[in-house]
Amino acid sequence: MQIPKINPIQNYVIVGGGTAGWMTAAILAHSLKHLKVNISLIEAPDIPTIGVGEATIPSFVDLLAFLRIPLKDFIKNTDSTFKLAIKFENWRQNNHNYWHPFGKIGNQIDGLDFYQHWLNHYAQQGQFQFTDFSPAVHLAEQNRFYAPRPGEKSNLSASAFALHFNAALVADYLKSYSLNLGVTHISDRVEQVNLSPSGTIKDLTLKQHGNLSGDFYFDCSGQAAVLINKALRVGYQDWQEYLPVDTAIALQSKAHQAPRPYTRAIAQPSGWCWQIPLQSRTGNGYVFSRDFTSPEQASDHLVEQLGEQNCLTEPRQVRFRTGKRNKIWYKNCLSVGLSSGFLEPLESTSIHLIMKAVLNFVQSLPDKNLSEATTNEYNRRMDSEYLNIRDFIIAHYCLSERTDSEFWRCWQHAVIPDSLQQKLALFKNYGRLQHNPDDLFATDSWYAVLTGMGLMPTGQDPLVARSNTNMIEGALKDSYQALHRSAAEKLSHADYLAALLNKQ
Ligand SMILES: Cc1cc2nc3c(=O)[nH]c(=O)nc-3n(C[C@H](O)[C@H](O)[C@H](O)COP(=O)(O)OP(=O)(O)OC[C@H]3O[C@@H](n4cnc5c(N)ncnc54)[C@H](O)[C@@H]3O)c2cc1C
Repeated sequence: MQIPKINPIQNYVIVGGGTAGWMTAAILAHSLKHLKVNISLIEAPDIPTIGVGEATIPSFVDLLAFLRIPLKDFIKNTDSTFKLAIKFENWRQNNHNYWHPFGKIGNQIDGLDFYQHWLNHYAQQGQFQFTDFSPAVHLAEQNRFYAPRPGEKSNLSASAFALHFNAALVADYLKSYSLNLGVTHISDRVEQVNLSPSGTIKDLTLKQHGNLSGDFYFDCSGQAAVLINKALRVGYQDWQEYLPVDTAIALQSKAHQAPRPYTRAIAQPSGWCWQIPLQSRTGNGYVFSRDFTSPEQASDHLVEQLGEQNCLTEPRQVRFRTGKRNKIWYKNCLSVGLSSGFLEPLESTSIHLIMKAVLNFVQSLPDKNLSEATTNEYNRRMDSEYLNIRDFIIAHYCLSERTDSEFWRCWQHAVIPDSLQQKLALFKNYGRLQHNPDDLFATDSWYAVLTGMGLMPTGQDPLVARSNTNMIEGALKDSYQALHRSAAEKLSHADYLAALLNKQ
């Protein structure tokens, strides 16, 4: 049997120099450095980047480790702070808050999820919230930070963290990282995309540099979607019927003296506000639906909440369309970042999706004989990522008990996708969750949000009766106290940052 020869891809072309473009360049340059490929990145000097997107999830810290980027150096150069959790304020009801923390919450007992034991205890005693057993929550509540060492066995070792950062500084950082690994940067605008008779991208016509051809193209051109939409005409699935917010007002304000180690997501009459603390400033935004308030009203509302004297920039309007490209990878083009789709920033998932898009591509690396089977499997995996995140975000809204504004009342009769209805139905039964290996959010995340939004199962897992209730009660009390005590011994977030950045 003759095995066909590899026909390797030599030339990769990336269009766009925002977070997506430079993350793509960095991951490709690092992952393919032994293959001696050429990577060029074209960035239009006169088209700005979107300039938002400053909260991440722990996978971003894993990415830095994968790229061999020292955390301290990154934090120093990107105005970063640590993020342990998202605090959801006023989502279930006004004056009710809950946490979605990173890391594990409790441990399995007698082979059963910790949640089941907590639920049984809660049903009997009404004591402790589920997230009272999260190390990250104890640290966040006390404004402290601690990064457990790999393999460490301590009360706080199940905590995990992500970063808040300045998006422009991150693009600069990843740009120098990529240039050091040999990526070519072309400052120019793509004016035309030229297709071959088979419908693949043949080359690009640039305003100043003439024609540039590659074997494979990454569309990181943001909402313009210059390659995947304008040239290849790949359609877009609109998910606005499920998630009606479509606009954000972004605004920077003065830094807090002691930056919080978490993102705040504060529900508002027509949407919600984010608050992302950096070392030198705070990022804020009001995400809303234009069906329920106008951009002018939303701007005024945000400025009023922050106090005019604290604002550092003018309110800036960003519009978006929730949904996903029908095919994220089509022929010799992969769309990454906003060109591939967008889910509102409630769970800070877009940067994760950028990373996943490129890492999954590297895992499915094609040669010049592009295989449809590879592309189809890649698209299936990315679709599944998007759908799971979409359902998770909808759960934050559709379970709300708020009826104090038209926006919140509309959720009482909202369209819920079948996939989420099935997840909720299963959970309502015995507090069980679907197991989906592609789901970014682990069971603890679902438990935290469903419980935080007040959804309680109608029955309990019968297996919980195998365990000794007194023993569980004692274990819960001990665990809560140990977590609280251990967190109280750690440095404040501000002191941890100062110690890290001043260290030689
Ligand atoms: C309101 C809001 C809040 C967000 N918050 C978060 C968050 O907290 N966490 C998170 O993970 N994500 C967040 N995101 C998403 C995040 O901002 C984006 O995923 C990320 O910034 C990637 O953007 P991008 O690089 O795809 O596009 P852009 O930043 O828009 O970059 C597009 C690039 O393409 C270039 N370009 C465009 N047309 C051409 C052309 N013809 N020729 C050459 N170059 C061209 C531009 O010059 C630019 O460099 C948020 C998004 C929004 C809208």
